[in-house]
Amino acid sequence: MDEETLIESRNAKRYKGVSKLLVQDGFGVLTVEKNALLIMKVLKIDEFERTRDVIQILYESPLLEDEACKQELIVLVTAEEYQFRLTTTEWTKGGYEPVTTSYLFKRLILKNINSGELEQKIIDYLNLAVNKMKANLRVCKYCKRKFIIEDMINNNVCHGCASEYGRVIF
Ligand SMILES: [Zn+2]
Repeated sequence: MDEETLIESRNAKRYKGVSKLLVQDGFGVLTVEKNALLIMKVLKIDEFERTRDVIQILYESPLLEDEACKQELIVLVTAEEYQFRLTTTEWTKGGYEPVTTSYLFKRLILKNINSGELEQKIIDYLNLAVNKMKANLRVCKYCKRKFIIEDMINNNVCHGCASEYGRVIF
């Protein structure tokens, strides 16, 4: 596989509507699908991307609406766990070409948790993630917009302003 094909494949097929998770006649629902249905209900999300064994959902917190930072909580759902991931930026090709990716924040192992407890735990993890995302934000001293740390060259200058006002060239 060449690099171009690999880059194209970053965007998996996206489905809208939880009913798309449920399979046709004659097949039962998989554990990964049950797990996805539960968390999508709790987070009130109806879009997902998937392969057979992994379902990915994106949650944009209403508490983090600032456009400059566009943070999302990413949840990878498998048969055994929810993996909560937070947005980051990978600078490909050196200092330019930012690509939004994610990093592992917390894992919630689903063994031995009843569904009532699980709903509460999902909400707890969501709150932890939102607090962490807020703590990751910094204000640029030039444009006054908020950015995640990865989008700044230091604690108070964003990449855009670094090129415009500073001596940094990207
Ligand atoms: Zn700035």
